[in-house]
Amino acid sequence: MPSRFVIIGAGPAGMRAAEVLRQKAPEADILLIGDEPHLPYDRPPLSKAFLIEGLQPGRLWLKPESFYAEQRIRLRLGAAALGIDRAGKTVALAGGERVPYDRLLLATGCRGRRLPAPFTAEPVHYLRSLSDAERIRAALRPGLELVMIGGGFIGLEIAASARQLGASVSVLEMAPRPMSRAVPAPVGEAVRALHERHGVVFEFGARLNAIARGADGRTLVETARAAYPADLVIAGIGAEPNTALAEAAGLAVEDGIRVDARGRTSDPDIFAAGDVTRHDNPLLGRAIRVESWQVALNQAAAVAASMLGAGEPYAELPWLWSDQYDCNIQALGLFEASLELVLRGDPAAAFTLLGLDPEGRIAAAITVNNGRDMAVLRRLVATRAVLPKDALADPQRKLSDLLKAARSG
Ligand code: FAD
Ligand code: NAP
Repeated sequence: MPSRFVIIGAGPAGMRAAEVLRQKAPEADILLIGDEPHLPYDRPPLSKAFLIEGLQPGRLWLKPESFYAEQRIRLRLGAAALGIDRAGKTVALAGGERVPYDRLLLATGCRGRRLPAPFTAEPVHYLRSLSDAERIRAALRPGLELVMIGGGFIGLEIAASARQLGASVSVLEMAPRPMSRAVPAPVGEAVRALHERHGVVFEFGARLNAIARGADGRTLVETARAAYPADLVIAGIGAEPNTALAEAAGLAVEDGIRVDARGRTSDPDIFAAGDVTRHDNPLLGRAIRVESWQVALNQAAAVAASMLGAGEPYAELPWLWSDQYDCNIQALGLFEASLELVLRGDPAAAFTLLGLDPEGRIAAAITVNNGRDMAVLRRLVATRAVLPKDALADPQRKLSDLLKAARSG
Protein backbone atom coordinates (compact mmCIF):
# COMPACT_ATOMS: atom_id res chain seq x y z
CA MET A 1 0.00 0.00 0.00
CA PRO A 2 1.47 3.40 -0.96
CA SER A 3 1.96 5.60 2.11
CA ARG A 4 3.68 8.82 0.94
CA PHE A 5 1.41 11.12 -1.08
CA VAL A 6 2.81 14.32 -2.52
CA ILE A 7 0.59 16.91 -4.20
CA ILE A 8 2.08 19.71 -6.31
CA GLY A 9 -0.24 22.71 -6.55
CA ALA A 10 -2.17 24.07 -3.55
CA GLY A 11 -5.27 25.31 -5.39
CA PRO A 12 -8.78 23.87 -5.04
CA ALA A 13 -7.85 20.61 -6.81
CA GLY A 14 -4.77 20.03 -4.64
CA MET A 15 -6.60 20.91 -1.42
CA ARG A 16 -9.59 18.69 -2.19
CA ALA A 17 -7.37 15.75 -3.14
CA ALA A 18 -5.51 16.09 0.17
CA GLU A 19 -8.80 16.18 2.06
CA VAL A 20 -10.13 13.03 0.37
CA LEU A 21 -6.81 11.18 0.76
CA ARG A 22 -6.96 11.85 4.50
CA GLN A 23 -10.60 10.68 4.73
CA LYS A 24 -9.80 7.42 2.95
CA ALA A 25 -6.26 6.77 4.23
CA PRO A 26 -5.99 7.72 7.92
CA GLU A 27 -2.35 6.60 8.15
CA ALA A 28 -1.05 8.22 4.95
CA ASP A 29 1.67 10.87 4.93
CA ILE A 30 0.26 13.78 2.87
CA LEU A 31 2.33 16.73 1.68
CA LEU A 32 0.72 19.64 -0.19
CA ILE A 33 3.22 21.86 -2.03
CA GLY A 34 2.26 25.32 -3.35
CA ASP A 35 4.39 28.01 -4.93
CA GLU A 36 2.09 30.84 -3.75
CA PRO A 37 2.64 32.13 -0.20
CA HIS A 38 -1.07 31.85 0.76
CA LEU A 39 -3.20 29.06 2.17
CA PRO A 40 -5.23 27.37 -0.61
CA TYR A 41 -7.83 29.93 -1.69
CA ASP A 42 -10.80 30.51 -3.93
CA ARG A 43 -10.11 32.33 -7.21
CA PRO A 44 -13.72 33.09 -8.33
CA PRO A 45 -14.16 36.07 -5.94
CA LEU A 46 -10.93 37.66 -7.21
CA SER A 47 -12.68 39.21 -10.22
CA LYS A 48 -15.92 39.88 -8.32
CA ALA A 49 -16.45 40.47 -4.56
CA PHE A 50 -12.75 40.83 -3.78
CA LEU A 51 -12.53 43.83 -6.13
CA ILE A 52 -15.93 45.33 -5.34
CA GLU A 53 -16.31 44.76 -1.61
CA GLY A 54 -12.66 44.74 -0.58
CA LEU A 55 -12.84 41.32 1.09
CA GLN A 56 -9.96 40.47 3.40
CA PRO A 57 -7.75 37.71 1.92
CA GLY A 58 -8.67 35.44 4.85
CA ARG A 59 -12.25 35.32 3.52
CA LEU A 60 -10.90 33.49 0.45
CA TRP A 61 -9.24 30.57 2.24
CA LEU A 62 -10.83 27.29 1.19
CA LYS A 63 -10.19 25.92 4.70
CA PRO A 64 -8.94 27.63 7.87
CA GLU A 65 -5.29 27.11 8.79
CA SER A 66 -6.32 24.79 11.66
CA PHE A 67 -7.85 22.33 9.16
CA TYR A 68 -4.45 21.30 7.81
CA ALA A 69 -3.03 20.62 11.26
CA GLU A 70 -6.16 18.74 12.36
CA GLN A 71 -6.14 16.64 9.20
CA ARG A 72 -2.35 16.11 9.42
CA ILE A 73 -1.88 17.54 5.93
CA ARG A 74 1.65 18.94 5.78
CA LEU A 75 1.75 22.24 3.90
CA ARG A 76 4.81 23.54 2.10
CA LEU A 77 3.81 27.00 0.85
CA GLY A 78 5.92 29.48 -1.12
CA ALA A 79 7.83 26.47 -2.44
CA ALA A 80 7.91 25.80 -6.19
CA ALA A 81 8.43 22.25 -7.36
CA LEU A 82 11.14 22.40 -10.00
CA GLY A 83 11.45 18.84 -11.22
CA ILE A 84 10.29 15.24 -10.90
CA ASP A 85 12.72 12.33 -10.83
CA ARG A 86 10.46 9.46 -11.89
CA ALA A 87 13.10 6.75 -11.48
CA GLY A 88 14.06 7.87 -7.97
CA LYS A 89 10.45 8.92 -7.14
CA THR A 90 11.36 12.32 -5.75
CA VAL A 91 10.28 15.91 -6.34
CA ALA A 92 12.93 18.65 -6.33
CA LEU A 93 11.89 21.89 -4.61
CA ALA A 94 13.33 25.37 -5.06
CA GLY A 95 16.03 25.57 -2.42
CA GLY A 96 17.39 22.14 -3.23
CA GLU A 97 15.26 19.85 -1.04
CA ARG A 98 14.17 16.50 -2.55
CA VAL A 99 10.85 15.08 -1.39
CA PRO A 100 10.15 11.35 -1.81
CA TYR A 101 6.76 10.03 -2.97
CA ASP A 102 4.96 6.75 -3.54
CA ARG A 103 2.12 8.48 -5.40
CA LEU A 104 2.33 11.98 -6.86
CA LEU A 105 -0.54 14.29 -7.89
CA LEU A 106 0.00 17.19 -10.28
CA ALA A 107 -2.59 19.91 -9.63
CA THR A 108 -0.64 22.85 -11.04
CA GLY A 109 -3.59 24.66 -12.65
CA CYS A 110 -3.24 27.39 -15.26
CA ARG A 111 -1.60 30.78 -15.70
CA GLY A 112 -2.93 33.80 -17.55
CA ARG A 113 -1.83 33.97 -21.19
CA ARG A 114 0.52 36.93 -21.72
CA LEU A 115 0.39 39.42 -24.58
CA PRO A 116 3.35 38.92 -26.91
CA ALA A 117 5.98 41.53 -27.82
CA PRO A 118 5.68 44.35 -28.89
CA PHE A 119 2.82 44.82 -26.37
CA THR A 120 5.09 44.36 -23.34
CA ALA A 121 6.79 47.75 -23.07
CA GLU A 122 3.99 49.40 -21.02
CA PRO A 123 2.66 47.82 -17.81
CA VAL A 124 -0.25 45.47 -18.44
CA HIS A 125 -1.96 43.66 -15.54
CA TYR A 126 -3.22 40.08 -15.57
CA LEU A 127 -5.53 38.37 -13.07
CA ARG A 128 -4.89 34.83 -11.93
CA SER A 129 -3.63 35.06 -8.36
CA LEU A 130 -4.53 36.82 -5.12
CA SER A 131 -1.41 38.97 -5.51
CA ASP A 132 -2.58 40.03 -9.01
CA ALA A 133 -6.00 40.91 -7.58
CA GLU A 134 -4.46 42.95 -4.76
CA ARG A 135 -2.53 45.05 -7.31
CA ILE A 136 -5.64 45.60 -9.44
CA ARG A 137 -7.78 46.45 -6.42
CA ALA A 138 -5.23 49.02 -5.28
CA ALA A 139 -5.34 50.69 -8.70
CA LEU A 140 -9.13 50.76 -9.27
CA ARG A 141 -10.91 54.00 -8.29
CA PRO A 142 -13.89 56.09 -9.43
CA GLY A 143 -13.20 57.99 -12.64
CA LEU A 144 -10.28 55.79 -13.69
CA GLU A 145 -10.19 54.76 -17.36
CA LEU A 146 -9.74 51.00 -17.66
CA VAL A 147 -8.95 49.32 -20.96
CA MET A 148 -9.68 45.62 -20.78
CA ILE A 149 -8.09 43.49 -23.49
CA GLY A 150 -10.22 40.36 -23.93
CA GLY A 151 -13.96 39.96 -23.48
CA GLY A 152 -14.06 36.47 -21.98
CA PHE A 153 -14.86 35.54 -18.38
CA ILE A 154 -12.05 37.55 -16.79
CA GLY A 155 -12.59 40.58 -19.00
CA LEU A 156 -16.32 40.80 -18.41
CA GLU A 157 -16.23 40.08 -14.70
CA ILE A 158 -13.54 42.74 -14.15
CA ALA A 159 -15.47 45.14 -16.41
CA ALA A 160 -18.59 44.66 -14.25
CA SER A 161 -16.65 45.12 -11.01
CA ALA A 162 -14.84 48.22 -12.32
CA ARG A 163 -18.10 49.82 -13.46
CA GLN A 164 -19.61 49.18 -10.04
CA LEU A 165 -16.60 51.01 -8.57
CA GLY A 166 -17.20 54.01 -10.85
CA ALA A 167 -14.43 53.43 -13.42
CA SER A 168 -14.95 53.95 -17.18
CA VAL A 169 -14.40 50.71 -19.06
CA SER A 170 -13.58 49.86 -22.69
CA VAL A 171 -13.39 46.16 -23.62
CA LEU A 172 -11.39 45.24 -26.72
CA GLU A 173 -12.29 41.76 -27.93
CA MET A 174 -10.92 39.99 -31.01
CA ALA A 175 -14.07 37.94 -31.62
CA PRO A 176 -17.34 39.43 -32.94
CA ARG A 177 -19.08 39.07 -29.54
CA PRO A 178 -18.22 38.48 -25.88
CA MET A 179 -17.49 35.05 -24.34
CA SER A 180 -17.54 33.57 -27.83
CA ARG A 181 -15.63 30.41 -26.92
CA ALA A 182 -17.74 29.46 -23.93
CA VAL A 183 -21.32 30.41 -24.81
CA PRO A 184 -23.47 30.50 -27.98
CA ALA A 185 -24.45 33.74 -29.70
CA PRO A 186 -27.79 34.43 -27.90
CA VAL A 187 -26.04 34.39 -24.52
CA GLY A 188 -23.11 36.46 -25.81
CA GLU A 189 -25.55 39.04 -27.19
CA ALA A 190 -27.48 39.19 -23.91
CA VAL A 191 -24.22 39.74 -22.03
CA ARG A 192 -23.16 42.43 -24.46
CA ALA A 193 -26.48 44.26 -23.95
CA LEU A 194 -26.12 43.93 -20.18
CA HIS A 195 -22.70 45.59 -20.21
CA GLU A 196 -23.77 48.28 -22.64
CA ARG A 197 -26.67 49.15 -20.31
CA HIS A 198 -24.01 49.66 -17.62
CA GLY A 199 -21.98 51.96 -19.86
CA VAL A 200 -19.20 49.63 -21.03
CA VAL A 201 -17.79 50.48 -24.47
CA PHE A 202 -16.93 47.49 -26.67
CA GLU A 203 -14.75 47.12 -29.71
CA PHE A 204 -15.32 43.73 -31.32
CA GLY A 205 -13.04 42.28 -33.98
CA ALA A 206 -10.35 44.33 -32.23
CA ARG A 207 -6.79 43.99 -33.53
CA LEU A 208 -4.15 45.47 -31.22
CA ASN A 209 -1.67 47.77 -32.96
CA ALA A 210 0.28 49.18 -30.04
CA ILE A 211 0.32 49.80 -26.31
CA ALA A 212 2.42 52.93 -25.88
CA ARG A 213 3.02 55.93 -23.61
CA GLY A 214 0.84 58.85 -24.77
CA ALA A 215 1.97 62.51 -24.81
CA ASP A 216 0.12 63.13 -21.48
CA GLY A 217 2.08 60.36 -19.76
CA ARG A 218 -0.90 57.97 -19.74
CA THR A 219 -0.98 54.68 -21.62
CA LEU A 220 -2.51 54.65 -25.08
CA VAL A 221 -3.94 51.38 -26.37
CA GLU A 222 -4.28 51.46 -30.15
CA THR A 223 -6.28 49.06 -32.24
CA ALA A 224 -6.58 49.07 -36.02
CA ARG A 225 -9.69 51.30 -35.59
CA ALA A 226 -9.25 53.54 -32.54
CA ALA A 227 -7.01 54.72 -29.72
CA TYR A 228 -7.99 54.36 -26.05
CA PRO A 229 -6.27 56.42 -23.33
CA ALA A 230 -5.91 54.32 -20.19
CA ASP A 231 -4.99 54.71 -16.53
CA LEU A 232 -5.04 50.94 -16.19
CA VAL A 233 -4.69 48.17 -18.78
CA ILE A 234 -5.64 44.58 -17.94
CA ALA A 235 -5.45 41.63 -20.33
CA GLY A 236 -7.71 38.59 -19.90
CA ILE A 237 -6.89 36.69 -23.06
CA GLY A 238 -7.17 33.11 -21.92
CA ALA A 239 -5.31 30.69 -19.70
CA GLU A 240 -2.55 28.17 -20.38
CA PRO A 241 -2.05 24.96 -18.40
CA ASN A 242 1.07 24.68 -16.20
CA THR A 243 2.45 21.56 -17.85
CA ALA A 244 6.20 22.30 -17.77
CA LEU A 245 6.95 19.86 -14.91
CA ALA A 246 5.00 17.07 -16.59
CA GLU A 247 6.63 17.70 -19.97
CA ALA A 248 10.12 17.75 -18.48
CA ALA A 249 9.35 14.46 -16.74
CA GLY A 250 8.35 12.91 -20.08
CA LEU A 251 4.63 12.50 -19.28
CA ALA A 252 2.08 12.70 -22.10
CA VAL A 253 0.92 16.32 -22.57
CA GLU A 254 -1.63 17.56 -25.13
CA ASP A 255 -2.54 21.14 -24.18
CA GLY A 256 -2.97 19.80 -20.64
CA ILE A 257 -1.54 16.76 -18.88
CA ARG A 258 -3.19 13.81 -20.61
CA VAL A 259 -4.99 11.61 -18.10
CA ASP A 260 -7.76 9.03 -18.22
CA ALA A 261 -11.06 9.35 -16.33
CA ARG A 262 -9.29 8.23 -13.13
CA GLY A 263 -6.64 10.94 -13.46
CA ARG A 264 -3.87 8.48 -14.38
CA THR A 265 -0.98 9.86 -16.41
CA SER A 266 1.34 7.77 -18.54
CA ASP A 267 3.27 6.92 -15.29
CA PRO A 268 1.29 4.57 -12.97
CA ASP A 269 2.48 6.43 -9.85
CA ILE A 270 1.69 9.93 -11.10
CA PHE A 271 -1.81 11.37 -11.33
CA ALA A 272 -3.15 14.79 -12.29
CA ALA A 273 -6.34 16.76 -11.56
CA GLY A 274 -7.93 20.16 -12.13
CA ASP A 275 -7.47 22.85 -14.76
CA VAL A 276 -4.11 21.41 -15.84
CA THR A 277 -5.58 18.14 -17.15
CA ARG A 278 -6.93 17.00 -20.47
CA HIS A 279 -9.03 14.15 -19.13
CA ASP A 280 -11.28 11.51 -20.64
CA ASN A 281 -14.92 12.39 -20.00
CA PRO A 282 -17.02 9.19 -20.21
CA LEU A 283 -20.27 11.16 -20.72
CA LEU A 284 -18.91 13.05 -23.73
CA GLY A 285 -16.86 10.14 -25.08
CA ARG A 286 -13.75 12.27 -25.56
CA ALA A 287 -10.98 14.05 -23.72
CA ILE A 288 -11.56 17.64 -22.60
CA ARG A 289 -9.69 20.35 -20.73
CA VAL A 290 -12.00 22.51 -18.65
CA GLU A 291 -11.25 25.57 -16.53
CA SER A 292 -13.95 25.32 -13.88
CA TRP A 293 -13.94 25.51 -10.11
CA GLN A 294 -16.43 22.68 -9.68
CA VAL A 295 -14.62 20.35 -12.07
CA ALA A 296 -11.36 21.05 -10.22
CA LEU A 297 -12.93 20.03 -6.89
CA ASN A 298 -14.96 17.03 -8.03
CA GLN A 299 -12.40 15.58 -10.41
CA ALA A 300 -9.72 15.90 -7.70
CA ALA A 301 -11.91 14.01 -5.22
CA ALA A 302 -12.37 11.16 -7.71
CA VAL A 303 -8.68 11.11 -8.60
CA ALA A 304 -7.62 11.01 -4.93
CA ALA A 305 -9.68 7.83 -4.50
CA SER A 306 -7.98 6.38 -7.60
CA MET A 307 -4.57 7.15 -6.12
CA LEU A 308 -5.54 4.72 -3.35
CA GLY A 309 -6.65 2.13 -5.91
CA ALA A 310 -10.33 2.51 -5.06
CA GLY A 311 -11.59 5.14 -7.46
CA GLU A 312 -14.47 5.41 -9.87
CA PRO A 313 -14.02 7.24 -13.19
CA TYR A 314 -14.84 10.95 -12.92
CA ALA A 315 -18.00 11.29 -15.02
CA GLU A 316 -19.82 14.62 -14.84
CA LEU A 317 -20.78 17.20 -17.39
CA PRO A 318 -18.73 20.35 -16.83
CA TRP A 319 -20.59 23.10 -14.97
CA LEU A 320 -19.52 26.67 -14.30
CA TRP A 321 -21.00 30.00 -13.36
CA SER A 322 -20.25 33.68 -13.83
CA ASP A 323 -21.62 36.70 -11.95
CA GLN A 324 -21.62 40.08 -13.69
CA TYR A 325 -23.52 42.97 -12.00
CA ASP A 326 -26.71 41.31 -10.76
CA CYS A 327 -26.68 38.78 -13.58
CA ASN A 328 -25.94 35.12 -12.86
CA ILE A 329 -24.96 32.79 -15.70
CA GLN A 330 -24.63 29.02 -15.30
CA ALA A 331 -23.47 26.63 -18.00
CA LEU A 332 -23.86 22.84 -17.99
CA GLY A 333 -22.11 20.73 -20.65
CA LEU A 334 -20.35 21.98 -23.75
CA PHE A 335 -22.10 23.79 -26.58
CA GLU A 336 -20.70 21.94 -29.61
CA ALA A 337 -21.44 23.56 -32.97
CA SER A 338 -23.61 20.55 -33.89
CA LEU A 339 -26.20 21.24 -31.18
CA GLU A 340 -29.58 22.72 -32.07
CA LEU A 341 -30.39 25.73 -29.87
CA VAL A 342 -33.77 26.11 -28.14
CA LEU A 343 -34.49 29.35 -26.29
CA ARG A 344 -36.77 29.35 -23.24
CA GLY A 345 -37.72 32.75 -21.86
CA ASP A 346 -36.95 36.38 -22.57
CA PRO A 347 -33.39 37.10 -23.80
CA ALA A 348 -33.69 40.66 -22.44
CA ALA A 349 -34.39 39.42 -18.90
CA ALA A 350 -34.21 35.82 -17.70
CA PHE A 351 -33.85 32.81 -19.98
CA THR A 352 -32.50 29.33 -20.49
CA LEU A 353 -30.77 28.16 -23.65
CA LEU A 354 -30.82 24.45 -24.41
CA GLY A 355 -28.54 22.59 -26.79
CA LEU A 356 -30.16 19.48 -28.33
CA ASP A 357 -28.03 16.75 -29.88
CA PRO A 358 -28.97 15.30 -33.31
CA GLU A 359 -31.28 12.76 -31.59
CA GLY A 360 -33.11 15.60 -29.80
CA ARG A 361 -31.71 14.98 -26.29
CA ILE A 362 -30.57 17.88 -24.11
CA ALA A 363 -26.76 17.82 -24.20
CA ALA A 364 -25.99 21.28 -22.79
CA ALA A 365 -27.83 24.16 -21.12
CA ILE A 366 -27.16 27.72 -20.02
CA THR A 367 -29.28 29.71 -17.61
CA VAL A 368 -29.16 33.50 -17.52
CA ASN A 369 -30.75 34.81 -14.31
CA ASN A 370 -32.62 31.51 -14.30
CA GLY A 371 -30.46 29.37 -12.02
CA ARG A 372 -33.50 27.71 -10.47
CA ASP A 373 -33.83 25.72 -13.75
CA MET A 374 -30.38 24.16 -13.29
CA ALA A 375 -31.20 21.36 -10.83
CA VAL A 376 -34.00 19.98 -12.97
CA LEU A 377 -31.92 20.47 -16.13
CA ARG A 378 -29.24 18.20 -14.67
CA ARG A 379 -31.86 15.52 -14.13
CA LEU A 380 -33.35 16.03 -17.60
CA VAL A 381 -29.91 15.63 -19.18
CA ALA A 382 -29.35 12.46 -17.16
CA THR A 383 -32.65 10.88 -18.37
CA ARG A 384 -31.43 11.25 -21.98
CA ALA A 385 -35.10 11.65 -22.89
CA VAL A 386 -36.22 13.19 -26.18
CA LEU A 387 -38.70 15.95 -25.32
CA PRO A 388 -40.98 17.94 -27.64
CA LYS A 389 -39.15 21.10 -28.73
CA ASP A 390 -42.24 23.30 -28.47
CA ALA A 391 -42.70 22.24 -24.84
CA LEU A 392 -39.05 22.96 -24.05
CA ALA A 393 -39.30 26.40 -25.66
CA ASP A 394 -42.44 27.33 -23.70
CA PRO A 395 -41.52 28.93 -20.36
CA GLN A 396 -45.11 28.32 -19.16
CA ARG A 397 -44.44 24.57 -19.26
CA LYS A 398 -42.55 23.62 -16.11
CA LEU A 399 -39.35 21.68 -16.68
CA SER A 400 -40.19 19.57 -13.62
CA ASP A 401 -43.44 18.46 -15.31
CA LEU A 402 -41.50 17.56 -18.46
CA LEU A 403 -39.11 15.56 -16.29
CA LYS A 404 -42.00 13.69 -14.66
CA ALA A 405 -43.49 12.93 -18.08
CA ALA A 406 -40.10 11.76 -19.38
CA ARG A 407 -39.64 9.45 -16.38
CA SER A 408 -43.11 7.94 -16.60
CA GLY A 409 -43.03 7.61 -20.39
P1 FAD B 1 -5.35 26.57 -9.67
O1 FAD B 1 -6.46 27.23 -8.92
O2 FAD B 1 -4.72 27.32 -10.81
O3 FAD B 1 -4.24 26.15 -8.61
C1 FAD B 1 -2.99 25.62 -8.99
C2 FAD B 1 -1.96 26.04 -7.99
O4 FAD B 1 -0.73 25.35 -8.27
C3 FAD B 1 -1.62 27.53 -8.06
O5 FAD B 1 -1.57 28.07 -6.76
C4 FAD B 1 -0.24 27.54 -8.73
O6 FAD B 1 0.52 28.69 -8.37
C5 FAD B 1 0.35 26.26 -8.15
N1 FAD B 1 1.50 25.74 -8.90
C6 FAD B 1 1.68 25.70 -10.23
N2 FAD B 1 2.88 25.16 -10.55
C7 FAD B 1 3.49 24.86 -9.37
C8 FAD B 1 4.76 24.29 -9.03
N3 FAD B 1 5.64 23.91 -9.97
N4 FAD B 1 5.06 24.13 -7.73
C9 FAD B 1 4.19 24.50 -6.76
N5 FAD B 1 2.97 25.03 -7.02
C10 FAD B 1 2.63 25.20 -8.31
N6 FAD B 1 -14.43 29.08 -12.26
C11 FAD B 1 -15.77 28.95 -12.15
O7 FAD B 1 -16.30 27.84 -12.34
N7 FAD B 1 -16.56 30.03 -11.83
C12 FAD B 1 -16.04 31.26 -11.61
O8 FAD B 1 -16.78 32.22 -11.35
C13 FAD B 1 -14.63 31.43 -11.73
N8 FAD B 1 -14.06 32.63 -11.54
C14 FAD B 1 -12.71 32.78 -11.68
C15 FAD B 1 -12.15 34.04 -11.48
C16 FAD B 1 -10.78 34.22 -11.65
C17 FAD B 1 -10.19 35.59 -11.46
C18 FAD B 1 -9.96 33.12 -12.00
C19 FAD B 1 -8.47 33.31 -12.17
C20 FAD B 1 -10.51 31.87 -12.18
C21 FAD B 1 -11.90 31.67 -12.01
N9 FAD B 1 -12.51 30.43 -12.19
C22 FAD B 1 -13.85 30.29 -12.08
C23 FAD B 1 -11.71 29.25 -12.53
C24 FAD B 1 -11.31 28.46 -11.25
O9 FAD B 1 -10.77 29.33 -10.29
C25 FAD B 1 -10.31 27.40 -11.63
O10 FAD B 1 -10.97 26.48 -12.50
C26 FAD B 1 -9.74 26.68 -10.43
O11 FAD B 1 -9.01 27.56 -9.62
C27 FAD B 1 -8.84 25.54 -10.87
O12 FAD B 1 -8.29 24.92 -9.74
P2 FAD B 1 -6.90 24.12 -9.83
O13 FAD B 1 -6.60 23.69 -8.43
O14 FAD B 1 -6.97 23.11 -10.89
O15 FAD B 1 -5.82 25.20 -10.31
P1 NAP C 1 -11.34 33.31 -22.01
O1 NAP C 1 -12.68 33.13 -21.41
O2 NAP C 1 -10.78 32.26 -22.92
O3 NAP C 1 -11.43 34.70 -22.79
C1 NAP C 1 -10.33 35.29 -23.41
C2 NAP C 1 -10.89 36.17 -24.52
O4 NAP C 1 -9.89 37.07 -24.97
C3 NAP C 1 -11.37 35.37 -25.73
O5 NAP C 1 -12.62 35.83 -26.11
C4 NAP C 1 -10.28 35.65 -26.75
O6 NAP C 1 -10.76 35.62 -28.07
C5 NAP C 1 -9.89 37.07 -26.40
N1 NAP C 1 -8.57 37.44 -26.88
C6 NAP C 1 -7.47 36.63 -27.01
N2 NAP C 1 -6.41 37.35 -27.45
C7 NAP C 1 -6.85 38.65 -27.61
C8 NAP C 1 -6.23 39.87 -28.06
N3 NAP C 1 -4.95 39.92 -28.41
N4 NAP C 1 -7.00 40.99 -28.14
C9 NAP C 1 -8.31 40.97 -27.78
N5 NAP C 1 -8.95 39.84 -27.36
C10 NAP C 1 -8.23 38.70 -27.25
O7 NAP C 1 -10.22 33.53 -20.89
P2 NAP C 1 -10.15 34.58 -19.69
O8 NAP C 1 -11.37 35.41 -19.64
O9 NAP C 1 -8.81 35.25 -19.81
O10 NAP C 1 -10.13 33.63 -18.44
C11 NAP C 1 -8.93 32.95 -18.07
C12 NAP C 1 -9.21 31.86 -17.06
O11 NAP C 1 -9.93 32.31 -15.95
C13 NAP C 1 -9.97 30.73 -17.59
O12 NAP C 1 -9.43 29.60 -16.93
C14 NAP C 1 -11.35 30.97 -17.12
O13 NAP C 1 -12.09 29.78 -17.03
C15 NAP C 1 -11.07 31.50 -15.77
N6 NAP C 1 -12.18 32.32 -15.28
C16 NAP C 1 -13.39 31.74 -15.20
C17 NAP C 1 -14.46 32.47 -14.77
C18 NAP C 1 -15.80 31.83 -14.71
O14 NAP C 1 -15.91 30.65 -14.98
N7 NAP C 1 -16.81 32.58 -14.31
C19 NAP C 1 -14.31 33.79 -14.42
C20 NAP C 1 -13.06 34.38 -14.55
C21 NAP C 1 -12.01 33.60 -14.98
P3 NAP C 1 -10.62 34.24 -28.92
O15 NAP C 1 -11.55 33.28 -28.27
O16 NAP C 1 -11.01 34.65 -30.29
O17 NAP C 1 -9.17 33.81 -28.78
